[in-house]
Parts: sequence; C-alpha cells; structure tokens
Amino acid sequence: MGRDLAALRSWAADRNLPPFRAAQVHHGLYRRLATSPGELTDLPRALREQLDLEVRLSDLRVVHEVSDSSGQTTKALFALQDGALVESVLMAYGGRDIRRRHTVCLSSQVGCALACTFCATGRQGWARDLTVGEMVEQILYFARLLRTRGEQVTNIVYMGMGEPFLNYDAVLESVRLLTDPDAFGLGARHITISTSGVVPAIQRFARENLQVGLAVSLHAPDDALRSTLVPLNRRYPLAEVLDACEEYIARTHRRVSFEYTMLEGVNDGVEQAEGLARLLRGMLCHINLIPWNRVDDMPYHPSSPLVISDFRDRLVEYGLAATIRDTRGSGISAACGQLRTSTIRDRKGARPLPVV
Ligand code: SAH
Ligand code: SF4
Repeated sequence: MGRDLAALRSWAADRNLPPFRAAQVHHGLYRRLATSPGELTDLPRALREQLDLEVRLSDLRVVHEVSDSSGQTTKALFALQDGALVESVLMAYGGRDIRRRHTVCLSSQVGCALACTFCATGRQGWARDLTVGEMVEQILYFARLLRTRGEQVTNIVYMGMGEPFLNYDAVLESVRLLTDPDAFGLGARHITISTSGVVPAIQRFARENLQVGLAVSLHAPDDALRSTLVPLNRRYPLAEVLDACEEYIARTHRRVSFEYTMLEGVNDGVEQAEGLARLLRGMLCHINLIPWNRVDDMPYHPSSPLVISDFRDRLVEYGLAATIRDTRGSGISAACGQLRTSTIRDRKGARPLPVV
C-alpha cells in the first residue's frame, strides 16, 4: 500500500481507527524516520502488531554500501522487492562549515530508455519506473544514516539512474512527500530535477507552480551534435527544449541549470563554447560542466582539466555563469552515470552488461 497520508487514512478508516492514528504513523515514518511499526512507540501495542502485518514501511533493502576514503561520499546499492537494483549517493559539501550540506542523488527508474551514448545507465535499457515509496525511501535511508551523526539531508537531486520526467507522476508525488511540512519537510528550493529534455514534461513542470529546481542536460550547442549524444534530441530539438526552459524561468523566476558533460574532441572545442554562448546568452541560467566519468568500452575520453577550465573561462568571458562539477565519487563508481553498473560487474567478475 502507499504510505502517504491519504493512503494511511483510508487504511485506518477501513479498520475503524480514528484518523489521528494515520497521522501518527505518517509522522513516525517521515519525521521520526521509523523503519518498522515496532519503533512507533506512541501507538498501542496491538496497533503496532496490526501495522506490522499489514503495512510495509520499507520497499528497499540495502545490499552494498561504500564510502570514499575521505568519507565525504557514500554510495548505497538497494535491492527492490522484485530484485531490481538501484543506487543513490550521499555527498557532503562544506567541510566543518556551519553551512555544511548533505546532498542525496537519487534514482527515478531502473535503467533508462533514452540511450544517451556516453551514459552507463542508458546502455542498460529501461526495466521499470520506481514507485513513489522507492524514491522517497532512498532519501529516508540517508536521513537515518545522517541522524546518527546529528546531521540532516539538506539537498536532493534527481540525477541518479533514469529519466525522472518519463516517470513524471511518481516523481512529482515523491517531491510532494519530501516537501510536505507534515512529511519530510525539505524546502522545494533544495530539490533539483534533471532531465535530458522531455519537452512536454518540462512545460508541465513549469506550470506546477513549484519552486523545485530544473537542470537540463544539454551536452552540445547544436542539434547535429546533440542528436549524436542524446538521441531524444531528434524528437525534441534544442529550440523546443530552450523554449520550454524559458517558460519555466518566466513562471518560477528561477534560473535553469544546464549540464554539459565534457567529452574530449567531441564537444569541448572553442567552436562549441562559442556556440553555447550564442545559444544561451541573455538567458537566466547557469552551466555546469561535468568531467565525463569513464564507462568501459565507450568511444569517448574525458576532456583534460585544462581544456575544461579553458572552456569555462570562455563561457564566463561571454557573460555566462559557468562552473565545473567536482569529480566526487568517481573513485567508488558513485559518479553520475556510473551507478549500478560497476557493482554488477564486480559481483559477476565480468565486464558490464547490458543488463535489463
Ligand atoms: N536522465 C536525467 C538524469 C540522470 S543523468 C538526465 O539525463 O539529465 C544525470 C546527469 O549525468 C546528466 O546530465 C547526464 O548526462 C550525466 N551523465 C550521464 N553519464 C555520465 C558520465 N558517464 N559521466 C558524466 N556525466 C554523466
Ligand atoms: Fe537516461 Fe540521463 Fe543516462 Fe540519458 S543521461 S541515458 S537520459 S539516465
């Protein structure tokens, strides 16, 4: 069963329980981060036992967890009820600073249908969408982990496996639970959804009247090149993607973040930097340059750090806001686009996939 308040209320009503019992369970799950009804000690024992039998509070089982040597990045591999595997990553920023942030990068699908040519998840193909519970629980898992250290999840990015806008309804429902002050209660501005450019979904998202951030994976300044990297571009070309972004900006007054994965000799030249500057000039946006994380047997190489910083400098000279994403997590295969594949490879002792 679902674990939002409405579902818990109807569960309580079916059993002639007062509605406040549903609110108690809801509060226990999202605010007290309970993993089993046994932890809901404000409920009568009989009710806890009934809940234990009838309500599954957790859809995920962690099968592997690994941190990098600095302890700043932790990756968790989860097995879902049907045995499918997904991963999420927790990243800490800000050292001992009071403004220390803890960002969770979560997955929205098992695999991905969009087959971007440089992405490990894209190579797996799509298996299924994640449910609302499966997405929210990735966050709850890390929230519990952080709580043991007196810390909290401060930011959430839908940048793990899958295309969130091809699982639109469940993703938005998960955002509602994560931002609901009676549920997880994180500010909408601390959440960002990344899409490869599903235009109708960007338009719909713009009209939701939410302050949730939008990141769009651009990777190229023109249709010819972009179509070779992001096949979806043939269906929704750049001009349409940018129009949809303008609508998001006009409605939310928030800047769009454009992701641009740097591939040596493919999209990292002066020509592309200038093309990008022409394309985005005057737009309320920020460009995030992502060093490519190697994926075995792919015909790409990461751009060198010098080329990436030159590219950034050129964009900045043209008046654009551009930064370079750190390569955090790459040592433990926890960087974007690398999730799950390496674990499956390690387990089988063989080369990666395709796994569907
Ligand atoms: N499907 C969504 C969100 C998940 S991918 C999207 O494409 O936006 C999150 C980001 O990681 C995207 O910008 C994607 O292009 C990038 N990415 C994928 N594989 C990568 C790799 N091997 N190295 C660096 N970035 C990668
Ligand atoms: Fe899917 Fe995003 Fe990977 Fe493209 S980059 S295949 S949209 S997960």
